[in-house]
Amino acid sequence: MTDCLFCRIIAGEIPARKVFEDQHTFAFEDINPQAPTHVLVVPKKHIRGLKEAAVEDADIIGRCHLTAAQLARQRGIEDSYRTVLNVGPGAGQSVFHLHVHLLGGRGLRWPPG
Ligand code: 5GP
Ligand code: ZN
Repeated sequence: MTDCLFCRIIAGEIPARKVFEDQHTFAFEDINPQAPTHVLVVPKKHIRGLKEAAVEDADIIGRCHLTAAQLARQRGIEDSYRTVLNVGPGAGQSVFHLHVHLLGGRGLRWPPG
């Protein structure tokens, strides 16, 4: 989608600090990090959000989480990190291309705000 920020990042049209890419997923540093590790993992397929996801998206959404777990291992934070998927503006979703936040490298309180 040409009017989607994350589709344009995946396509290389908008610069981002890419940290990982495979056939299905793409990961890059969040521009406004909320923790020492704050990476966004996105499906290469445009999915607007979890609310809009369909059964056929189950594999790719799972892959996004597994990519996050792999990055956490690589960064040595595998015993303390959080994956977050904001759904809807009221929960903080501001970009409407499904993305998993990987947050870690500091203490994380529960519940999140
Ligand atoms: P949301 O608020 O939708 O859950 O998460 C969107 C995230 O995308 C935010 O954490 C925000 O900082 C990040 N973001 C927004 N625009 C850009 C951008 O142009 N580049 C990068 N790398 N991150 C962005
Ligand atoms: Zn998109």
